[in-house]
Amino acid sequence: MLTPMSQQTQPARPVHPDDLFALDAVLEQDERDAARTVRAFCDDQLRPHAARWYVEGALPARDLAKALGGLGLLGMHLDGYGCPGTSAAMYGVACRELEAVDAGVRSLVSVQGSLTMTALHRYGSEEHKQEWLPAMATGEAVGCFGLTEPDAGSDPGSMRSTARQQPGGDWVLDGTKMWITNAPVADVAVVWARADTGSGERPRVHGFVVPLRTGGVGVTEVPRKLSMRASVTGEITLDGVRLPADAVLPGAQGLRGPLACLTEARFGIVWGTTGSLRDSLEVAVDYARERVQFGKPIGSFQLTQAKLADAAARYTTAFLLALHLARLKDGRVPGAQATPELVSLAKMDNARAALDVARSMRSILGGSGITADYSPMRHAANLETVITYEGTQEVHQLVVGKALTGLDAFGG
Ligand code: FAD
Repeated sequence: MLTPMSQQTQPARPVHPDDLFALDAVLEQDERDAARTVRAFCDDQLRPHAARWYVEGALPARDLAKALGGLGLLGMHLDGYGCPGTSAAMYGVACRELEAVDAGVRSLVSVQGSLTMTALHRYGSEEHKQEWLPAMATGEAVGCFGLTEPDAGSDPGSMRSTARQQPGGDWVLDGTKMWITNAPVADVAVVWARADTGSGERPRVHGFVVPLRTGGVGVTEVPRKLSMRASVTGEITLDGVRLPADAVLPGAQGLRGPLACLTEARFGIVWGTTGSLRDSLEVAVDYARERVQFGKPIGSFQLTQAKLADAAARYTTAFLLALHLARLKDGRVPGAQATPELVSLAKMDNARAALDVARSMRSILGGSGITADYSPMRHAANLETVITYEGTQEVHQLVVGKALTGLDAFGG
């Protein structure tokens, strides 16, 4: 005879969604090992400091870069030049663990490895690669990626920065780059500007390797941020900055270059958001089991369990979407690829899921949840940036909408 549900033995201890829904089980052994190594490093070196870095708005970015480089997390999925050359999936699980601490730490790694090092690796000359990649892989050198401008965000094609080639071959750069992660602590920037060779041809966007100590470069920190406080963000001004002829990245012409780097970096966001989502859920489960109101743990109330169940569903689907993308990116699905549209879909939906869950888990924490003692509200504030940078939610909706309908809605 069937035992009524109400009389069945209650589980003695809670089960983590990674086990309950066999998410850890679908990772391969080297991916599980990578996740464990990074998580142990995070627990030991990062998590104890995350709230303070956030509250004080002060990330020790250069020291952190060396520690992260020592662990092989900078330019992790790139080959050669001192880079570890791991699979995309291993890079993904590392991003998940880093953002489970704070999206600011994951941003440092994404901008260094997926944006700046990828631009140099893919489009740079042999000299650019030799000069910068080994030092950036160890974290001795820090890089940043300057695409956005005060008047050109979602529409980088409207950028105003210029690079004018002089008769001797040198370049002179003018313009302003805004919202540039790592800039105040960086040694080098890959700056995108309209290059005028003086030949009378229409200027096209090119990337330039700009050591930030060059004369005419100014960097100021963006003040008063309410999101990504454990990340260093800056504005770069270029005022008649003179660079040698070989400062230009030879392999990139037009916006396709920087946009391909962004597609690369969005992969890290897709995985990173599963980390902040998971951490919000874990914190709320622990709190709900301990906190007693009306004589019972608040985790025993049906409304609380509904929030937790919904969060677990969002985590599970976000994780599986991230893994699907990783398997495609690693060439593990014959005949299929990680298209930019899939990357847009995953970035859009995982960032949204993580933000929704962080807010909902914050509500389980009640008043305590608005302090820095608990992570969900910090994650929620960070995710306001994550849902905005590297393509806003709306821009990714337009990318997917265009593919679905064949109609381009970017112009309005
Ligand atoms: P806008 O483009 O002005 O958009 C404002 C609003 O209008 C948004 O809601 C947007 O979705 C909407 N919108 C725009 N166009 C359309 C349209 N066609 N249809 C419908 N809605 C539309 N950039 C870098 O180059 N390097 C970095 O390292 C970097 N780091 C960053 C770090 C932080 C903390 C932040 C906040 C930003 C960073 N960015 C960086 C910039 C980021 O990529 C831009 O903020 C983002 O692309 C949006 O641009 P915007 O802020 O100018 O907003």
